[in-house]
Amino acid sequence: MEEKPPQTRLPNKAVVAFGSNMTFTRRVENIEAALKLMKESNLRVTKLSHLYETKPMYHHAQDPFLNGVCEIETELNPVPLLHALQHIENELGRKRTIANGPRTIDLDILLYNDEQISHPRLDVPHKLMLEREFVLRPLNDILPDHVLPRGFAPEIPGRTIREHLNALTHDPSMSSIVMIRPLRHIPLLRSQDPTRRTLIMAIFNATPDSFSGEKAPKETDARMIFGKWFGEGADIIDFGGQSTRPGAELLSAEEELARVLPYITQCRGMNRQDTVVSVDTFYARVARECIEAGADIINDVSGGLLDDEMLPTVAELNKTIVLMHMRGNPKTMTSLTEYPDGVVNGVRRELGERVKAAHKAGIPPWRIILDPGIGFAKTEAQNLELLRSLAELRKPPSDPDEVDLSKYPWLIGPSRKGFIGKITGVEEAKWRQFGTAAAVTACVAGGAEIVRVHDVTQMVEAVRLADGIYRSRDSSFNKPARSKSASPSRA
Ligand code: ADP
Ligand code: MG
Repeated sequence: MEEKPPQTRLPNKAVVAFGSNMTFTRRVENIEAALKLMKESNLRVTKLSHLYETKPMYHHAQDPFLNGVCEIETELNPVPLLHALQHIENELGRKRTIANGPRTIDLDILLYNDEQISHPRLDVPHKLMLEREFVLRPLNDILPDHVLPRGFAPEIPGRTIREHLNALTHDPSMSSIVMIRPLRHIPLLRSQDPTRRTLIMAIFNATPDSFSGEKAPKETDARMIFGKWFGEGADIIDFGGQSTRPGAELLSAEEELARVLPYITQCRGMNRQDTVVSVDTFYARVARECIEAGADIINDVSGGLLDDEMLPTVAELNKTIVLMHMRGNPKTMTSLTEYPDGVVNGVRRELGERVKAAHKAGIPPWRIILDPGIGFAKTEAQNLELLRSLAELRKPPSDPDEVDLSKYPWLIGPSRKGFIGKITGVEEAKWRQFGTAAAVTACVAGGAEIVRVHDVTQMVEAVRLADGIYRSRDSSFNKPARSKSASPSRA
């Protein structure tokens, strides 16, 4: 007798919306905890949107929400799925008060296969989804061409999600929501807000051999320096124990850790809640221990390529990663500068692969920042081209198989680099501030969200001015550089 083929039943595909506004500083944590519990309940996340901050819509006297959506695969039928999601809401401490009121976490079913469901406890597609930008905008990230079941909104049949979104918000300046990146609980980076300030990442080298020509200060002096930088307008300090300048010998994870950890501990010990700590490392072990000591961001020059454990580690610990573009390692990179269809296309495509790998490892889109890697596997001409073409880098790809990087924020680090020295003729790295200021201005003009700099005092001034020129002016958003009343140059 012929054997029967095994019953293969395709899993159901559902789309779940998530939102949190309680407590204000734990919103990201709640959402990430809900996603973890969903995975543990075998609700397999296959697509994840970016994260958006939304003013409360119906009941106004409450904190703004964070919202996003995910596509999942599940064997559960719709009502058991609703129960599973409500169980997760309860586990995370959701208490139902007033309708549309504050909540630690809300998990709603937007779509379930192509079904239209009308049940006393469940309406799918979600009844109000077409009037909610905080649903349509994240949904447009993951399923822009999706068409809702025929019977839903029959007066406008056949519209895609993208068309529904455009119909709701034809005037983008009226948009009530903004894409965010958590750097820490607060602050959040408002990456696509045209009035945003460019953030300053100050470089702290805990290295005796930094190419920028500075020696690490004594630990006891470090707090004074951090305090000064934050006072001047730095937003993030990036701690590095290893020189990645071209040709550098690599240090072990242990040695690197021994250099940076004491400084991170000092910085966290200052007890400033809004201070963002970043670690410049390509070692997963260094990342883990520094995160345990309070670091918020891992800045990996290899985008996870040099240590296979890096992306899973950052995913597990729910932190933000900077994926930088480079090729090879600091010893080999200078000869790896062939980009057959141009450096911009090459960087975009190769970084896209790193973004894919990060997603696969479980890092959500809102935990990723990109860096084109000025000076890493690039010639002088390619560095200049990248600085000139930042807007180009953010264009959505024409090839549908390529990852769309257009919604990710960019960090750029041209500070004191070799190409600036060559062009200006300034040999000593620490005297390259004027060239660096020009490069930083190009970064702001191109739309960078964060610039990574050595000379905090000077670059805060350069960035403030560049922001004044290139960002929509909103005086409340542009905090001034420190006041220098005694300076004659203010006249
Ligand atoms: P909110 O309407 O703000 O999401 P709740 O999460 O308290 O408020 O949900 C209220 C009720 O809405 C739930 O008890 C659930 O039975 C019902 N409901 C109807 N359709 C849906 C859906 N598509 N997803 C989630 N809940 C739904
Ligand atoms: Mg709900």
